[in-house]
Amino acid sequence: MGLFSRRKTVFVDSDILVIGGGMAGCGATYESRYWGRDLNVVCVEKANIERSGAVAQGLYAINCYMGMQWDENQPEDHVRYARNDLMGIVREDLGYDIARHVDSTVHKFDEWGLPMMRDPETGRYMREGKWQIMIHGESYKPIVAEAARKAATEVYNRIMVTHLLMDKTKANRVAGAVGFNVRTGDYYVFRAKAVIVCAGGASHIFKPRAVGEGMGRTWYAPWSSASAYALPILAGAKMTQMENRIVLTRFKDGYGPVGAYFLHLKTYTENAYGKEYESTWYENTKELVGDYIDRHPVPTCLRNHAFLEEVKAGRGPIRMVTKEAFQDPHKETVGWENFLGMTIGQAVVWASQNIDPKLINPELTTSEPYVMGSHATCSGAWASGPEDYAPSEYQWGYNRMMTVDGLFGAGDTIGGTAHKFSSGSYTEGRIAAKAAVNYINDMGNDRPQVSEGEYEELKKVVFQPLENYRIGRNEIVAGTVSPSYLLPMSGLQRLEKIMDEYVGGISSHYTTNDVLLDRGLELLGMLKEDLDHLGAEDLHQLQRAWELQHRALASECVTQHTMFREETRWPGYYYRADHPKLDDTDWHCFTLSQYDRNTGEWGMEKAPVYHIVD
Ligand SMILES: Cc1cc2nc3c(=O)[nH]c(=O)nc-3n(C[C@H](O)[C@H](O)[C@H](O)COP(=O)(O)OP(=O)(O)OC[C@H]3O[C@@H](n4cnc5c(N)ncnc54)[C@H](O)[C@@H]3O)c2cc1C
Repeated sequence: MGLFSRRKTVFVDSDILVIGGGMAGCGATYESRYWGRDLNVVCVEKANIERSGAVAQGLYAINCYMGMQWDENQPEDHVRYARNDLMGIVREDLGYDIARHVDSTVHKFDEWGLPMMRDPETGRYMREGKWQIMIHGESYKPIVAEAARKAATEVYNRIMVTHLLMDKTKANRVAGAVGFNVRTGDYYVFRAKAVIVCAGGASHIFKPRAVGEGMGRTWYAPWSSASAYALPILAGAKMTQMENRIVLTRFKDGYGPVGAYFLHLKTYTENAYGKEYESTWYENTKELVGDYIDRHPVPTCLRNHAFLEEVKAGRGPIRMVTKEAFQDPHKETVGWENFLGMTIGQAVVWASQNIDPKLINPELTTSEPYVMGSHATCSGAWASGPEDYAPSEYQWGYNRMMTVDGLFGAGDTIGGTAHKFSSGSYTEGRIAAKAAVNYINDMGNDRPQVSEGEYEELKKVVFQPLENYRIGRNEIVAGTVSPSYLLPMSGLQRLEKIMDEYVGGISSHYTTNDVLLDRGLELLGMLKEDLDHLGAEDLHQLQRAWELQHRALASECVTQHTMFREETRWPGYYYRADHPKLDDTDWHCFTLSQYDRNTGEWGMEKAPVYHIVD
C-alpha cells in the first residue's frame, strides 16, 4: 500500500480534454480555442507535442489536398477515390466532411511558414500525384505544434493516458481520463466536460519483419501503441472495420515510402527476372474480387496481392526500377531528398548495403500489418456524422462523437474514413473540436462528475506493474527472470507472435481462417490473464506496460472483427482462407463491435454502407 499512498495525485480541470497531441490533436486544440474563446482547453501528450506522433520525423508530401481554388479536384472526387481504394466500403459522409474542409487546413500550414513546393510556371502547389502536394516538411510537426501550444490553456507533455473516466451521474457519458507522468511518476486525474481522443494508430501488434537488433524499425511509428482504440474500447464505444488492417509495399529494410517514386519519379516495379508481373495475376484477382480489379486506380490491396502472388510463385524479389529515372539529376535529387525529409533510415540502409539507386534497382517488400484509421485503411471508432450530410442512421449526436456521450475522436481514432493522412487528420481534429464546443455549450449546468472511488481504484491498477516488480524481483533466478512477473518486452513479443501466426501476419502470408482465429482468441485470453502480472522496473517500463495493455486489447478487437467478416474483401491486406472471395451480397457492410468491460464479452453487428456520392 505504501507505494500508492505516497504517490502524488495532480488534478486538472478542463472543458475540453484532447488526448494525444499529434496531427489530429493539434488540430483539435487549435480549433477548440477558435470556437471556445473562454473555454479551458487542455492537451495531454505522452511524448512532447513538438516532435510527437507519426509526423515526428517530418514528411515530404501532404497527401490530402483537393486544390479547389484551382478547380483541381472536388470533395466528391475524393470520396469516389477513397471508396474505390477501400473496395467499396467507406463512411462517405465523414470523408466528404473532411474533403470539403481540408484545403483551408493546408492554407493555414502555408500561412504558418511550412515551406511548400510550388510549380514555377503556374505558381500552384507542386503536385506529386492527384491528391498529394510536395513540401519541405522536416519541420512540419513543430510548426503545427506551435499553433496548438498558443491555443491551449495548457499542454501537459510526458503524460501517458491509461484510462478514460466515466460520469458517475449518467451512464455512458465520459468525464475525463487518468494517466501518469512518465518522468516524475505523478498520477494525473483529468476532469473534463468533453474528451477528444487523438492518440494515434497501432504498430507492433503483429510481429514485424525486423526483429532483434532492428526491432524498433517498423513502418508506422513504433510509439503508436493503439491507445486511440483501447481507450474508447474500454469505455464501451463501438468500433468499426477493425479487421481492415494495412500492409504497405515499401523499400526493403528501411520502410522508405514509394509514393514519390511512383508518382513523381515515374519509376515502376519488376520481378527478379526483369519482367512486369501485375498482368500475370489479373485473371486470378478477377476470380477473387470481380470487377474491382478493373477500377482506376487499381485498389492498393490488389496491387499488393499481385506482388505477394509473384513472390510466392518464386519470382521474387520484386524491385523498383530506379536506374532509369536516376539518370536525370533532378529526379535523383528528389529521390534522395524524399528520404532525407522523412525516412532518413532508408538512405542509411542503402548506404550500408552498397545500394546506389542509380546503379542498382532496390528491393521492395510488403510490411507487417498495422491498424489505423487515417492512412489507406478504415479502422477506428464508429462516429456520428455531420448534421447536414450524414444519413439519419449515422447521426445520434454531435459530429465525430462516438457512441459514448461527450467522447469525440479524430485522425487514426475514427473509423470508416481512409485517406485522411496528415492534413485530413488535422482537419478532422478541427471538426471534432467545433462539435465538442457545441456539446459543451448545450450542456448547461449538467456537467459530468468523476467518482473518487473510480480514480482511486485506477491509481492502484495503473501503478501495479511497479509493485509486481518490487515484490517479484526478490525471486529473480538469473539476469532479469522472475517466476512472478512478465516483462513488457516479453509480453509484446508474445502478442506479436500470436497475431502473426493466428490472425494473418507475415509468417502465414497474411492468411488465416476460423480455426486459427478461434485459437488466436484463446491465446489472447491467456495473455490478457498474464498481463495482470506485468512487472515494471521503472517509469519507462511502466509506460511500456500500458502500451502493451492497449495493444493487446486492440488486437483482441482486430481478431474479433476478422472472425466476424466471413469474406476476403481486401486480398493483399489479409486473406480468410475459408472465405477466399469478396462477397458483396452478404458483406457490403460495416462491421461493428462493442466490448463489455465487466464481462469481457464482445458484441458484433453489421451496419449498412450508404453511398451518398454517385
Ligand atoms: C511512415 C509514415 C509516413 C507517412 N507519410 C505521410 C505523407 O507523406 N503525407 C501525409 O500527409 N501523411 C503521411 N502519413 C500519415 C500521417 O502521419 C498520419 O495520418 C497522421 O499523423 C495521423 O494523425 P493522428 O493525430 O491520428 O496520429 P499521430 O500524428 O500519430 O498522433 C498521435 C499522438 O498521440 C500520442 N499518444 C499516443 N498514445 C497516447 C497516450 N496513451 N497518452 C497520451 N498521448 C498519446 C502520440 O505520442 C502522438 O503524439 C505518414 C505516416 C507514417 C507513419
